[in-house]
Amino acid sequence: MTTDDLLIAFAEFLSAQDILTAAEDMKPFLQDWRHMFEGAAVCVLLPRSSQDVQRIVQICAEAAVAIVPQGGNTGLAGGATPDSSGGSVVLSLARMNRIIDIDRTGLTVTVEAGMVLDTLRAALAEVDRDLPISFAASGSATLGGILATNAGGANVLRSGMAGRMVLGLEVVLADGTIVSELSGLHKDNSGLNWMQLFVGSEGSLGIITRAVMRIETLRPHSATALLAVADADAALQLYARAVDRIGDRLAAFEIMSRDAIGRVERAFGLKCPIEAQRWLVLIETSSTSSYLEQDFAAFMEEAFESGLCADGAIAASQSQRQAFWRLRENLTEAEALSGRSVKHDISVPVSRMAEFLRRGETLLADVSRQTGATLNPHIFGHIGDGNLHYNILCDRPDAAGALNRAVHDLVVDCGGSITAEHGVGQYRLSEVYRLVSPARLALQERIKAALDPDMILNPGKLIRGDRP
Ligand SMILES: Cc1cc2nc3c(=O)[nH]c(=O)nc-3n(C[C@H](O)[C@H](O)[C@H](O)COP(=O)(O)OP(=O)(O)OC[C@H]3O[C@@H](n4cnc5c(N)ncnc54)[C@H](O)[C@@H]3O)c2cc1C
Repeated sequence: MTTDDLLIAFAEFLSAQDILTAAEDMKPFLQDWRHMFEGAAVCVLLPRSSQDVQRIVQICAEAAVAIVPQGGNTGLAGGATPDSSGGSVVLSLARMNRIIDIDRTGLTVTVEAGMVLDTLRAALAEVDRDLPISFAASGSATLGGILATNAGGANVLRSGMAGRMVLGLEVVLADGTIVSELSGLHKDNSGLNWMQLFVGSEGSLGIITRAVMRIETLRPHSATALLAVADADAALQLYARAVDRIGDRLAAFEIMSRDAIGRVERAFGLKCPIEAQRWLVLIETSSTSSYLEQDFAAFMEEAFESGLCADGAIAASQSQRQAFWRLRENLTEAEALSGRSVKHDISVPVSRMAEFLRRGETLLADVSRQTGATLNPHIFGHIGDGNLHYNILCDRPDAAGALNRAVHDLVVDCGGSITAEHGVGQYRLSEVYRLVSPARLALQERIKAALDPDMILNPGKLIRGDRP
């Protein structure tokens, strides 16, 4: 099938404004959020229904044209960016963005995959419900992308990764079959838990078109504080106390290096309200009951009395709370504005986090000596999940590979994972194939071969394999 034939076939059921072919129209879809990857495509398609997606897949399958699914294009692993061949089609779910149903009593919400997270949470808040997923790209990230990357964020402590909240899914497979289980059952053991196969599959096994998510009652009472701590050991000890005192009302426990916060202050004209030491902790608790405040106050008192925390501030108003979170949420952008960095989205067992950071300091000094690069850490993360964004500003591109491998080797030595929440995409594919167990990789390849034997779904991402 020629390119013209392909476009004619799409035009039979998509309107002209849902098929983008002009370079300036396609540009935002062909580059990732960080501008690390840029690709090319035959066209960008913006279907409006699951049936549209099905027909696109059937046409592409027949023509052996690769499809790159895309949601909000905020992914940090290059998973939604096509390769440079120009032979693939970008399938954006952006126009499939409706809420289909909110069940306040059954505690479920049914949405189309292109639904933006912030928009969904605002609609749920109006009926006193919430989907507790929170991260800095929530103004653009979509439910389909969130599930396809099994996104995490600040609330994982309490609610787990996005995939844990899935109760129903509709997926278009590589041969055009639609598998749809949208009853939103909390219990269903009538077969394999197939939905989890698509969680974190990064568009390589099927295209998610709808989802049912488990929601919860809105937690109107919250308390937020910023604490200054001297080292990671102190932060971990505080975390242990918070778990004891606050239990499942602990919503977020974030760690940020003083240097990284300094870059946010300079880039965005913000001011950290406390005298920071080497690390800052942002802690947030939330609850349906007001008893929370007492326990939080007791935790704060203990934090100061124990000497683990040198300085701190409790948010006295909603705007102060937002100001604290702005420091956290601008970290990624401040980093991008500070120069080139080598990014690591790592997790280690919580008990080995301090060890990882200690050994990391020695490692950075060694790599700097060996390569001649100046390395400035820009570290932040979710301490209770053992997840750090161990990002290193590096002035020499030729040192990036050695640095990346050295950090990943240390992660593996500490019993960790080289991608905790951002996924593999194209950015981490070779490192995953270097470090993940051959048995796990072979299993993934067998699943891919069974579901997408012609490799038309997002080839070159997450799972390797040659197209026939
Ligand atoms: C400032 C910033 C902060 C971030 N913070 C966090 C964080 O704290 N935690 C975290 O986990 N992530 C974080 N991210 C990463 C990103 O926001 C998430 O990975 C998000 O889930 C991606 O959603 P998206 O709709 O933008 O997906 P996209 O970027 O469009 O796509 C991501 C992947 O999913 C696939 N995909 C998209 N939609 C579908 C679909 N409907 N069906 C099948 N496959 C699909 C794509 O092919 C691609 O492989 C952050 C990103 C930014 C820019």
